[in-house]
Amino acid sequence: MTYTYDNQNIFAKILRSEIPNDTVLENEFALAFKDIAPQAPIHVLVVPKGPYVCYDHFLREGSDEEILGLNNIISKVIDKLNLSPSDGKGGYRIISNAGADGVQDVPHFHIHILGGRSLGRMVEKTKFGI
Ligand code: AMP
Repeated sequence: MTYTYDNQNIFAKILRSEIPNDTVLENEFALAFKDIAPQAPIHVLVVPKGPYVCYDHFLREGSDEEILGLNNIISKVIDKLNLSPSDGKGGYRIISNAGADGVQDVPHFHIHILGGRSLGRMVEKTKFGI
């Protein structure tokens, strides 16, 4: 499996502080920041600091520390923004788009965390059906 990482992608520039971001949380391995074009009242992106193209790349080549670090940030974002449905309300959706079929725009692995309203069904049906 070969992945080619383009270090000129916009999230790489954010991680190098070449362009600004609206940070929610950060640790040694990952950064969470607000999506610039939110599709829900809460729309946060979580990215690893390492050069991974997509989720399967990260899982295959990321270290245990990086994978744990990213998941810790996700957990803390859910807590910080009161998204957990553990009290019987609220909730959220996590999405990671990968490649052409996933309609991934930015080729640096990222997790979308969406919430703040009912998000509807997971995937829209097209005129072609499933
Ligand atoms: P995807 O289609 O999964 O690659 O999603 C890329 C996301 O990055 C989109 O939701 C964009 O709105 C978001 N985005 C693009 N540029 C920026 C930026 N400079 N800061 C924050 N979010 C961005």
